Amino acid sequence: MYMRDLSAISTLILDLDDTIFPTRSISPAHFRELFDSMEFEKYGYSGTTTRQIIADLWRLPMADVAQMYKFPEELVRRYHTTASRTDFQFDISPYADYSYLLNLTYHRHLVTTGTTPVQEKKIDALGIRGDFGRIIINDPYIFDGGKLHCFETILREEKLEREEVLVIGDNPDSEIAAAIQANLPYLIIDRSLNAPDFDNNRISSFTDLT
Ligand SMILES: [Mg+2]
Repeated sequence: MYMRDLSAISTLILDLDDTIFPTRSISPAHFRELFDSMEFEKYGYSGTTTRQIIADLWRLPMADVAQMYKFPEELVRRYHTTASRTDFQFDISPYADYSYLLNLTYHRHLVTTGTTPVQEKKIDALGIRGDFGRIIINDPYIFDGGKLHCFETILREEKLEREEVLVIGDNPDSEIAAAIQANLPYLIIDRSLNAPDFDNNRISSFTDLT
């Protein structure tokens, strides 16, 4: 769907990581305790693989990493339990253009993929909880269906028509794929302008939402 005329849009559904704040601005030190407690070697992962796993866990949702490295169920449970008990003190802020977004008159909902306690702590650290009507954490270990399911839930519960919703996110394989599947208008926020396939549906900043 070609997306330039925003006049029909009443509601934005936003992604969190790398859309509202730079994920890599979280220091890996915050996760050290969690990752150290995982004892990957016990599950047969070599030292080299463990270092790769840890690097990937820092930048990707845990479910994706679990799939990549075929985590046994016990390791996944352990991650969730430890993450729930960890008192993360993230020192993070939204991108500078986020305040521009807040001044626009759209309703806003947040749909983010990840481990529930970690995503909750990010939302609180950013101080953005009150900026959204609905916040749905797409945690594959809590429910199935992915972001498509989350979008359909919002459409149904907020009684929204598809053409009045605009999905904004950075990941073509995640929220953008789900938006295409759900036949929802979308924009990819490509802050470094390196996704040429999305030329017609691409912005580099929230300030492009005029
Ligand atoms: Mg993202």
